[in-house]
Amino acid sequence: MWIFKDGYYKIEIENVEIKVSTKLIDENLITYDTWLNQTHSDKIYIIENIENIPKGNLDGDGIILKVKNLKARVKTADCYPVIILDIKNQIGGIFHIGWRGSYLRILEKAIKIFLNKFNSKNLIVIFGPGICSNCYEVKENLFSYFPREYFKYKNGKLFLDLLTYNLDILKSYGINDIILPFSCTYENPILYSYRRGESSRIYTILEIK
Ligand SMILES: [Zn+2]
Repeated sequence: MWIFKDGYYKIEIENVEIKVSTKLIDENLITYDTWLNQTHSDKIYIIENIENIPKGNLDGDGIILKVKNLKARVKTADCYPVIILDIKNQIGGIFHIGWRGSYLRILEKAIKIFLNKFNSKNLIVIFGPGICSNCYEVKENLFSYFPREYFKYKNGKLFLDLLTYNLDILKSYGINDIILPFSCTYENPILYSYRRGESSRIYTILEIK
């Protein structure tokens, strides 16, 4: 489960560490080894060889690590950082998922890589903080991207439930070992939120030790 420690929200499962930065952390002090130029795509990189580690300049929205002692970073503010773990095979993936990534079903693409390429069983999926369905106001143009069941009107405003949309993808693959966000970025004042007009980002970092 998520714990709050030293200015980070953290999860440790066996030798896997996931940490999510807050406003209490100076972003210049956060270290990581590989990261993405996030483009709201479904492009996923797989790093299996420590000799040839891509640093930045990766246009895409997912990194799967099959190497140890390498920190992979995703930046968000209202979009969801999502981690997929195959503890037995020591493989972890980290993904940036907003509405476009959800529409492109990047999570399904990632699950298929774990199942087909790595023959994973018993996947664990962890959602970091993102904007919740009570706060994520959208325009009706998104009706052409998602089924109506994921929308609701409240006081004449329209809201989209991206979390449930992605949870339903996981359920369709029989994945039930899921850790949910510890809070909503728009509601938690120590997390950065794009919708609150903040330009800094939350750093979510995955490392297999
Ligand atoms: Zn909220």
